[in-house]
Amino acid sequence: MASSMNKVEDEAFVTLVTNDVYSYGALVLGQSLRDAGTTRQLAIMVTPQVTQAMRRQLTFIYDVIQQVDPLDSQDAAHLALLTRPELGITFTKLHCWRLTQFKKCVFLDADCLVLQNVDDLFEREELSAAPDVGWPDCFNSGVFVFRPSEETYQGLLQCAVGQGSFDGGDQGLLNTFFNTWATADIKRHLPFVYNMTSAVSYSYRPALEKFGRDIKIVHFIGTSKPWRYSYYPETGTLTAPDGGNYHAERYIKAWWETFYKRVRPRIEEEQGIDLSGKFGKLHLEVSPSGSPGESSPTEDPQLQQWEKGQMDYLGKDSYQNIEKHIDTVLNDKSK
Ligand code: UDP
Ligand code: MN
Repeated sequence: MASSMNKVEDEAFVTLVTNDVYSYGALVLGQSLRDAGTTRQLAIMVTPQVTQAMRRQLTFIYDVIQQVDPLDSQDAAHLALLTRPELGITFTKLHCWRLTQFKKCVFLDADCLVLQNVDDLFEREELSAAPDVGWPDCFNSGVFVFRPSEETYQGLLQCAVGQGSFDGGDQGLLNTFFNTWATADIKRHLPFVYNMTSAVSYSYRPALEKFGRDIKIVHFIGTSKPWRYSYYPETGTLTAPDGGNYHAERYIKAWWETFYKRVRPRIEEEQGIDLSGKFGKLHLEVSPSGSPGESSPTEDPQLQQWEKGQMDYLGKDSYQNIEKHIDTVLNDKSK
């Protein structure tokens, strides 16, 4: 349960979700941060597509739920961006610079899993990040330290409009904007264990064996997200989705164990939903083609209802409790 006791109030871990499927990732990520004993705030940016039911789940882990709408700004840079619809998701992530109620933040992609406390990241300065395995002179934008600032946000928008993103995503844009990262200050290079993009298990296995125990954050880059695997709770085994790049099984298992043991009970308790599918497996996303930006259909009618935001678990009392919790969170943040 989110609580603001003993918390550093002006520093936060921040993530983003644009749909309910990525929200499973965010629930596990947030839980893993709590389990690692963070003393910082947890904030999540959500777009309007995220259902009310999922937002309620998110409020049990995140202190701040910030709705961001890619189409709500009136400024000139944004109007120009409207002619560049391919930069939509990019633009959404940039909203993290507008969380100016915080002095310093660490952004984490929703497909990250924290294995050990990483509060020491707040000792770093903007922009600190780990190298990208594909091109190590660029940083990977799945984990980065930043300082919220309206000025920086506007600068990033100008950069997006003027130069665009060389890879069509946020990583290309951020590497263009923070273009001295590779050379200016080694302290801004996070060790790789803070953003272990898990395809490395195939590219440099001996290093994984030697340094594996130091890994603090696993980042499941690519199309084979953990929630696309099937998990069999009785045996603790997994089936990989069709196609894509596969991750080392031990980390996918760690993700699923967090989901199964720590997140699922809260979903069942609060919503009276049985997530275990007909075949004794947990399967959060069925369609292998699950295109970004939309939830995939599922075989489980209960889960289908849930994803549509139609559930009957809202007994008066539990609803009031949830409302109360949301109010507390909102009041806390408006101070
Ligand atoms: N994201 C999202 N919805 C999407 C795609 C991306 O919410 O449909 C957010 C989410 O936080 C995700 C991040 O943007 O972790 C970056 O995308 P992704 O992790 O899929 O990229 P990768 O790390 O595989 O390059
Ligand atoms: Mn990612």
